[in-house]
Amino acid sequence: MFQTTIARESCAEGVGLHTGVEGYVRLVPAPAETGIVFRRVDLDNFPIEAQGHNVARVSYATSLMKQGVLLSTTEHLLAAIYSCGIDNVYIDINSIEIPILDGSAEPFMQMLEHSGVRKLRRKRRYLKVLKPLEVSEGDRRIGIYPAEEFRVRCYVDFPHPLVGQQEVEMLVGPDTFRQLLARARTFCFERDITPLRGMGLIRGGSLDNAIVLTEEGIMNGPLRFPDEFGRHKALDLIGDLALAGLPLLARVEAHKAGHSLHTQLVSRLLADPSLWTITTGSTAEAVHTGEEAYRAALSPVPATPGD
Ligand SMILES: [Zn+2]
Repeated sequence: MFQTTIARESCAEGVGLHTGVEGYVRLVPAPAETGIVFRRVDLDNFPIEAQGHNVARVSYATSLMKQGVLLSTTEHLLAAIYSCGIDNVYIDINSIEIPILDGSAEPFMQMLEHSGVRKLRRKRRYLKVLKPLEVSEGDRRIGIYPAEEFRVRCYVDFPHPLVGQQEVEMLVGPDTFRQLLARARTFCFERDITPLRGMGLIRGGSLDNAIVLTEEGIMNGPLRFPDEFGRHKALDLIGDLALAGLPLLARVEAHKAGHSLHTQLVSRLLADPSLWTITTGSTAEAVHTGEEAYRAALSPVPATPGD
C-alpha cells in the first residue's frame, strides 16, 4: 500500500459553529511524509499538524493549538480525510475555525470526491496497536485494542425519546464512512442553547447546521437516519482518532465517550511507545527505516487533562 494525497484542490466556505466567524477551507495536495497539516493562511501559512501533541482545549469540539495559534472544530473534516485514506494533505484555512457547513461530513466528502486521490511513491506507514489501553471517567470509557484492521464501535445513551441507546460498529473505510456516517449531523439540546451561548459557544449555530432536540422531539426534522445521533458520535470519534497522525491498525470501543476521552486516548497512546509499532502493512513486521524519525515526530506527547 502506497501513501496518498489528493489529485487537485477543492474549497468550501461557511460559518464556524462556535465562533460564528465566516471563512473558507481549501484542500491542497501535499508530498509524501507530510501528514495532515492545517495552514492558517491568515497568519502567514502557520502550520498546525493534525497530531495528538497539538490538541488544546477539548469540550464541545476538538481544537488544536500550536505556539498559541488556535484552530477549532477539526473533527468532521478530519473524519472524512482519515476515512478516505488520504495520508498527506494541506488544509488551508483563513480563520480560527473549520466551517461547520451542514453539520455533517457530507460536504467534506464532496470536496474529497472533487479532489480525487493521487498515489505517491512512498509506502504507507500504519500505527499498529500491540497492547490494549483504556481510559475512563465515571461511566464513560474508551479503549483501543490490537487488530489487523481499523474498526470502531461507538455506544451512546442520551435520555431522550428519539435517542436512547444507539450503537454503531464498523470497519472504517471510504465506502463504509460514506454510506453509514458521513451524512449524520451534529446535534444539541434546546435547553443547552442559552448556557452554551453564555459560554461564548455555538455563535454560528443554526437550524441549518445542527439538529436541535426539544424535550419530546426535534425542532428541525426529518432525521437523515433514525440513529443519526449515534452515527454522528462515531463520526466524531474517527475525526479525533485521526490525531494519531498515521492510519491505525486497531479496534476502538467508545462507551458514552466524547472529544475529551477520545483525545486523551490518542495522547496517552502516543506517549507510550511500548503500546504500538509502525509497520508498512497489517503484518507485524516493523519498519526500521524511518521509525525513529516517526517516533520523534509523534512523541513525547503530554497526556491531555480532562475538561
Ligand atoms: Zn461532531
